[in-house]
Amino acid sequence: MEAEEGEEYLFKIVLIGDSAVGKSNLLSRYARNEFNANSKATIGVEFQTQSVDINGKEVKAQIWDTAGQERFRAVTSAYYRGALGALVVYDISRRSTFDSARRWLEELTTHCDTTVVRMLVGNKCDLENIREVSVDEGKQLAEEEGLCFMETSALDATNVKTAFEIVIKEIYNNVS
Ligand code: GDP
Ligand code: MG
Repeated sequence: MEAEEGEEYLFKIVLIGDSAVGKSNLLSRYARNEFNANSKATIGVEFQTQSVDINGKEVKAQIWDTAGQERFRAVTSAYYRGALGALVVYDISRRSTFDSARRWLEELTTHCDTTVVRMLVGNKCDLENIREVSVDEGKQLAEEEGLCFMETSALDATNVKTAFEIVIKEIYNNVS
């Protein structure tokens, strides 16, 4: 009983994907309900912690954002260390970022073991008029690679909370 009371859940989740796909805005939308239209490369903040209630248990998600090092393909192994979940993000209005998603998935496999809960995220789904990657293409890649898939918009908040919380709940189910 005492052990149960002291139980704590802290899950590290990493955001990866090409520069400017909206990683930092997904995090700020989720953690603070904020969106920044002119965000430059992320400065400073390493991670944000968000508490989620799952079946009456407090679970803390420590969500890591890159500091722009993805631009130089220089995301270090320290970034991935201890991660239990990952959101691999592309921009539905830029095909090159979708093509890169495979590379980010490989990178994830290199640095983390296979039990990491992974979700493929097609962000900026508000940009329907300039869409370059169809929903089906996203679904298909996710199916091939065996991960979940969701389209999101950090701008209008579509599916942002849902995407993070699916990952958090799946991690919880794996460890509890
Ligand atoms: P990061 O480099 O992956 O962290 O991307 P940022 O979060 O800095 O976003 C890059 C640019 O895309 C910024 O100008 C954001 O305002 C914009 N952006 C991010 N998410 C969305 C979205 O869901 N919809 C639209 N239309 N723009 C977005
Ligand atoms: Mg960023």
